[in-house]
Amino acid sequence: MESLDKKESLKFGIMGGTFNPIHYGHLVTAEEAFNQFKLDKVIFMPSAAPPHKKDEKIISADDRYLMTVLAVASNKHFSVSSLEIERGGYSYTVDTINALKKRLAPNSKIYFITGADAILEILTWKEPHKLIDFCDFIAATRPGYNLGKFREVFSYDDWQKFKSKISFMEIPALAISSTAIRERIRKGRSVRYLLPDNVIDYISKNRLYIEGD
Ligand code: NAP
Repeated sequence: MESLDKKESLKFGIMGGTFNPIHYGHLVTAEEAFNQFKLDKVIFMPSAAPPHKKDEKIISADDRYLMTVLAVASNKHFSVSSLEIERGGYSYTVDTINALKKRLAPNSKIYFITGADAILEILTWKEPHKLIDFCDFIAATRPGYNLGKFREVFSYDDWQKFKSKISFMEIPALAISSTAIRERIRKGRSVRYLLPDNVIDYISKNRLYIEGD
């Protein structure tokens, strides 16, 4: 990853996900966050081992990382970090943001961008109250997403604290999902126009997802 050790205070979007595989829904989410929140940079952060998917079979972190690099290569505002993959083990977001904060100028601002359903479970993540003090959150939703779910899972006091730190962004392109792409590949159906061609070529060359992984 390029050096983050900048003297300038910048606004960073950290795009957290498993990216299994990365698709246009993720890329549109990052682009929309970049523009709406006037970010200086978006750093994609593929997780090593997602803590909430301990029993799931997931393709290697290296493959997910390389596909992410291929997908963002043409956007000068986007880059990919191997921080979580190099750290290994379960990827706790609080540890990642903590590590990044140490490398950024003191007044830099961090927005953690990910899917709304992931953020819905933030109270089950490691040290959620510390995490919410570290950064803001951008929760990407698919069209028709029921935001009422958030009010249901938080206690009144938690919601008062968390709601000011979470922004919601509806992304029509998130009608695309990694699960549906894996399923289509397994069934031999086309995934063209759902994810970048160079990522499709990588999947095909390495015979990924054909056996239910
Ligand atoms: P997930 O449960 O696989 O995804 C939940 C939903 O969000 C899915 O619909 C997913 O769609 C979508 N999504 C995931 N990443 C997205 C992104 N960057 N932009 C837009 N939509 C996205 O979630 P995950 O990928 O494993 O985890 C998301 C992030 O939360 C990761 O960075 C992970 O490390 C972090 N997390 C941290 C903890 C913790 O610290 N304890 C626990 C859980 C998650 P697709 O399937 O199409 O991507």
